[in-house]
Amino acid sequence: MAVPTSHPRYISLATRELIAAGVEAGITSIHGLIAHGRGEAFDYLLGEKTHPFAKDAIRTAAALLLAANHPVLSVNGNAAALVPKELVRLSVILGAPLEVNIFHSSKKRERKIAAFLKKNGAKEVLLPSAALIKGIRHNRRLCNPSGIAKADVVFVPLEDGDRCGALVAMGKRVVTIDLNPLSRTSRMATVSIVDNVVRAMPLLIREIEGMKKKSRSRHQTRLLVKDHANKAILKKAISRMRSGNSSC
Ligand code: ATP
Ligand code: MG
Repeated sequence: MAVPTSHPRYISLATRELIAAGVEAGITSIHGLIAHGRGEAFDYLLGEKTHPFAKDAIRTAAALLLAANHPVLSVNGNAAALVPKELVRLSVILGAPLEVNIFHSSKKRERKIAAFLKKNGAKEVLLPSAALIKGIRHNRRLCNPSGIAKADVVFVPLEDGDRCGALVAMGKRVVTIDLNPLSRTSRMATVSIVDNVVRAMPLLIREIEGMKKKSRSRHQTRLLVKDHANKAILKKAISRMRSGNSSC
């Protein structure tokens, strides 16, 4: 369905169309629609705006990803459907591989996501293979030995709490974008960007490009990451949602 740009909820409806198209193309799982709906509800409470607490987290996330020795971008069916070009761009500016890692495992869907990312400009996309994410059961625990397995920083937008917790337990630092400040992922990640992935990704890219130009010292970057108070950021997001003045 073509959404008229004059509609007051145009961006929200157009984003919904992207997820629905992802399901139709076999990229996004049908369960991804429910996850998206949960995200929409939290976004409504944020007034569908990027708030200062998200901008602060984006700054730290940019520093952490830039300072990483081996950053990896984990891509699931929702992220691929919503921000494929931005994921590819982030991968290029960071020199970080894209790795498909989905909750409801399906070899066919993994291949479709990889093909879709390539259609959007990716040169290479890693698939889960012989390495394991410890503490996760079933096929979801598989990851790529050259990707997530050896990453020091993993970017996992819209991730499930189990896997986020397992990555943190493996000693990795995790950056997430998650509209729900109460989710296990938001609470366990090193840096949680409480914002819609469609708004946060362009801002994260711009921040990284800006930091690259300024060529921050490793010491400055470390300080930014060390001083990051994720819990305080989540508290600000929760209080913003509770304040009830975030009209859409
Ligand atoms: P957790 O497992 O971390 O406790 P959950 O089980 O509630 O979270 P999942 O389905 O595992 O939820 O993860 C999807 C997460 O992505 C949810 O927290 C949802 O709010 C969030 N989300 C959905 N769509 C978007 C979006 N467009 N931008 C940012 N976050 C989103
Ligand atoms: Mg979950």
